[in-house]
Amino acid sequence: MTPRFDTTYRQLPEVFYAPVDLTRAPLPALVRLNRALAEQLGLDPEWLASSEGIAMLSGSTMPPSVEPLAMVYAGHQFGHFNPRLGDGRAMLLGELVGRDGERYDLHLKGSGPTAFSRRGDGKAVLGPVLREYIVSEAMHAFGVPTTRTLAAVSTGERVLRNGLEPGAVLARVARSHVRVGTFQYFLGQDDTAAIDRLANYVIDRHYPEAREAEQPYRALWTCVMERQADLVAHWMALGFIHGVMNTDNTQIAGETIDYGPCAFMDTFHPAKVFSSIDHGGRYAWGNQPNIAIWNLLRLAETLLHGLGTRKEDAIAWAEAQVDAFRARFDAAFTNRFRRKLGLLREADGHDALVDATFSALTEGEVDFTLFFRTLTQVADGQDEAPLRELFAKRPVADMWLSRWRQQLKADGDGDRAEVMRAENPIFIPRNHRIEEAIAAANAGELAPFERLLEVLAKPFSEQPEHAELERPPAPDEIVHQTFCGT
Ligand code: AMP
Ligand code: MG
Repeated sequence: MTPRFDTTYRQLPEVFYAPVDLTRAPLPALVRLNRALAEQLGLDPEWLASSEGIAMLSGSTMPPSVEPLAMVYAGHQFGHFNPRLGDGRAMLLGELVGRDGERYDLHLKGSGPTAFSRRGDGKAVLGPVLREYIVSEAMHAFGVPTTRTLAAVSTGERVLRNGLEPGAVLARVARSHVRVGTFQYFLGQDDTAAIDRLANYVIDRHYPEAREAEQPYRALWTCVMERQADLVAHWMALGFIHGVMNTDNTQIAGETIDYGPCAFMDTFHPAKVFSSIDHGGRYAWGNQPNIAIWNLLRLAETLLHGLGTRKEDAIAWAEAQVDAFRARFDAAFTNRFRRKLGLLREADGHDALVDATFSALTEGEVDFTLFFRTLTQVADGQDEAPLRELFAKRPVADMWLSRWRQQLKADGDGDRAEVMRAENPIFIPRNHRIEEAIAAANAGELAPFERLLEVLAKPFSEQPEHAELERPPAPDEIVHQTFCGT
């Protein structure tokens, strides 16, 4: 059964997108299909796995009713404004209404050049496609809002990246692909009518509650702000570093999007970065909230004409929202870390304990995920010795533990371990394991990739037979940077 798309984005004016001339993949083959997700979307997995389905998933040929389009957007990349980016290696196949009644975009990434490719080839290669598959599905299992992966398809072509690599296409599912950069494109064009059209589209599709507000643009911005604040707090509680928090990668519906040079930290350090081009630490772990509000202010700039009757009022309002973001972010962040530490009740002193935890982890050079996983075991009545052993300096562990115990006493009784187990994953997609899985896949061996997917589908569950995947990298296995070249 071919998919039935219902694509509202196509009803927007033509300046919002460009039609796509399809590129035929020489020998498309399915690497992996996410059957459970296909079913949730009301898609027929058997059809998707058929030659017709694979032809669609590789962007080669479409069923007669499907007319893909490339979306236009702009963006600040590492702080520099690019007035015209757009889907240079991606396209929207269409929208689907899932079994949950929600509307989703089905997008292909790496399916060939479009009107927005500039000098790029429009292609993607297997390694980054599998990286996005693994990390996006793990994020979903952690409960983090994220785009998801429906399929990875190889094209049978060799594409020049770090040498010749196998070409691949990722089929991505998102609540929509509207970004801060979509609004910025029309501000760059001085096209207020298009901004209004887009804002209304976004309100209808994602934030209908804003329609009822006295000031719908302020309400819209606040909805987006709250989702971003919660999202970044959630990332940070998992040790996640997005790596390219550009405005074109800041999705309006509040999902994590664009898994390029992202990574989960092994050894904790607040200034850790992964992108090979992030020299100033712009997108470091601890700087992510600052960048989120920076990106949100770029969104506010595009909505300025609708944020107040006089420009001064609009600007004053937008400036005051920096504090609103901070308050929202701080509350979300403290709540997550409170639960990670097993504190059941809100109390003064928790922020200080969280800060002391970061200092101790930094000084002790402790693995972030193992620390909280082992702390959960301690709260569950197990021996403290394995926790101490995670610290390069034992006195740091002793001092921290006594402080934590003190705070627990003040916190009172309850099932801490249960709260902690729900917040502290046992398994994360560690970079060295992802690299290992990619190297194997490039050599034709998919088992390590499949194994990671299987284990990470239940990241909070004990899986003793996969205990080695809990371990941080040995010194010679550490991956220092990941690269953008999808
Ligand atoms: P990203 O790094 O995925 O956020 O992409 C940033 C911009 O560069 C987007 O406009 C992409 O479409 C474009 N881009 C990245 N790689 C390619 C490529 N191989 N061919 C064409 N456009 C690309
Ligand atoms: Mg992007």
